[in-house]
Amino acid sequence: MPHRLQIEAKFSLVSGLHITGEQGKLWTDKALVVSWGDGKTPVVPATTIKGWLRESAERLLRGWGQQVCDSSRPSEICGTCLVCEVFGAPRRRSALRFSDAELHEGMTDVRMNVSLSRRRKAAYEERLFSTEVAWQKRLTVHIEGWFTSLAEAQRTAALLYLAANAGFALGAARSRGLGWLKLEAFTVNVDSEKLPKEDLIAQSKALVSWTRSSA
Ligand SMILES: [Zn+2]
Repeated sequence: MPHRLQIEAKFSLVSGLHITGEQGKLWTDKALVVSWGDGKTPVVPATTIKGWLRESAERLLRGWGQQVCDSSRPSEICGTCLVCEVFGAPRRRSALRFSDAELHEGMTDVRMNVSLSRRRKAAYEERLFSTEVAWQKRLTVHIEGWFTSLAEAQRTAALLYLAANAGFALGAARSRGLGWLKLEAFTVNVDSEKLPKEDLIAQSKALVSWTRSSA
């Protein structure tokens, strides 16, 4: 029987957040992504959350001496490493499903930035652009997955927990000081039963020593 993994990760946001949407907005160059449902609630898309956790997992595993591929170079995604196993690859579907995170309780505003031409640093090529920013205290992320073995479900939860803890800033404007977040709570359910925190920590430690010994 397949095992169902459900994760809820709660982050507190230390700064504002910006994920560039496709929808244009009058007077704003870079508008936020908004919910399909109501067309106005800002969201962090599932793909952004997945990409962010993947990048964090890659960085961690590389630090432990594991060979993992670099998802920032899509042509080099290997399909066989632990990161590909958890997050998927072109010919390998991930067992996980990430949901969009809606930013309900916050407010948004627009900040101005200056873009500098990288080629010629001439002042006349500077240009002002506006970025819409969501200010919000909390971000809740939901992840779900199905696994054939209990051990695999728990190992995946442990990797996601470590990645969520170690993640840098989220979103396109992170180089401008936006998107900083901190993990506050990480709840794991396997087959609708809560995995005790001690077990999650034990699983995480086991994963770290397993990767180190197999590096
Ligand atoms: Zn890979």
